[in-house]
Amino acid sequence: MLAINAPCTNYLPSNIPCFSMETRTCVVCKKELPLSEFNRYWPIGSETWVLNVYCKNCKKEYHRVRRFAYYKAYAKSYSQRPEVKARQSELNRSRYANDPVFREKQLAHHRKKKLENPHLYWAKRTLKRHSKNGCVIAFTPSELSSIAKKVNTCPICGRLMPWGTSLRNNNAPTIDRINNFDKMGLEDIMIICHKCNTTKQNRTFNEMYNWCQKFISFAEKRNGGMRK
Ligand SMILES: [Zn+2]
Ligand SMILES: [Zn+2]
Repeated sequence: MLAINAPCTNYLPSNIPCFSMETRTCVVCKKELPLSEFNRYWPIGSETWVLNVYCKNCKKEYHRVRRFAYYKAYAKSYSQRPEVKARQSELNRSRYANDPVFREKQLAHHRKKKLENPHLYWAKRTLKRHSKNGCVIAFTPSELSSIAKKVNTCPICGRLMPWGTSLRNNNAPTIDRINNFDKMGLEDIMIICHKCNTTKQNRTFNEMYNWCQKFISFAEKRNGGMRK
């Protein structure tokens, strides 16, 4: 232990390395610089100053990069907050309605995305619509789009399903939940055309089968069989 009245020589300029005329090489930028270009610190339990192995500029740069990454991550997590997302989408909706330049930009963006990868564009849009309606989705849009790439015709009516068209087209591909579970898994869906899907509506597979049989018996009673 130091005596209380002992002169504290550690604070004299000659003992502080940054006042010396020596140089040292920074481990980061590999430049040889005077000691005044290095920050000093006093480690706990040490008897003297110790110099950093990196220069002041490199330390500044290190913290600048860290700070930038931190702000970027914060901005990302902030934009993911539900209330911020809602506010932003409300803002975008009003801009879309009132600002023709913005609207044209948005439309061009969607046209481009649709042309680039119609299956993925379709998968993203349709899953967004389903999750808005309260579906829990157990797969990603890219998984769905890889399945969609193998489907070209409706498995029920056999018509060609054009990719990249809107739902106003009767042949447009849609997702059907076979048994209408709230949690949508890949084994519970099939890709059928818009017309077949709106005919099936929210029936399960068996309910639809029974309805079709009822329809056939009704038609036979009414018309005496299918009209030729
Ligand atoms: Zn450096
Ligand atoms: Zn169909």
